Amino acid sequence: MTAPTADQLDELRELLDRLPAGPWHTTDCEGRIEVWQESALTRVTRDEHGEITGYSTPSAYLASHLLYERYVDTWDRGERDGEDDDLRRDIAELLAAARNVLPGLLAEMERVRALARDLTDPGECRYDHHGHCQPHGWTQAEPRCPHARARELLREETA
Ligand SMILES: [Zn+2]
Repeated sequence: MTAPTADQLDELRELLDRLPAGPWHTTDCEGRIEVWQESALTRVTRDEHGEITGYSTPSAYLASHLLYERYVDTWDRGERDGEDDDLRRDIAELLAAARNVLPGLLAEMERVRALARDLTDPGECRYDHHGHCQPHGWTQAEPRCPHARARELLREETA
């Protein structure tokens, strides 16, 4: 797995900016798979983790509230002969999960990379015959010195 390029990340950020704001919620009821903006749902109930356990879909809504809809033959996941339907269920859930999680993931990646830039010693590693890095006091051969791994990560960032 290779790191995303700067262009790919820019494209992803622009796409997320164009899409209606999250969070999004996937509903799956009587053969109708939909992805809604959570704020458009009514009578929402949640469990102690904040997960939606009950909702009603609105009778009137904007196009930007109902983001995806697909009719399928099966009513429940895993029903016999429903493999394609389950694939469509997974795609709907991926859409919602991607919109919900990617902005935070991108921000987290930026924080981690900034931290790596600040923590990484630009000085080269020097290994003894055990593979331990002397200047950085790293006493394992595997994984290698974290400064070497961090420099690699930061080089990929600018590639
Ligand atoms: Zn080192």
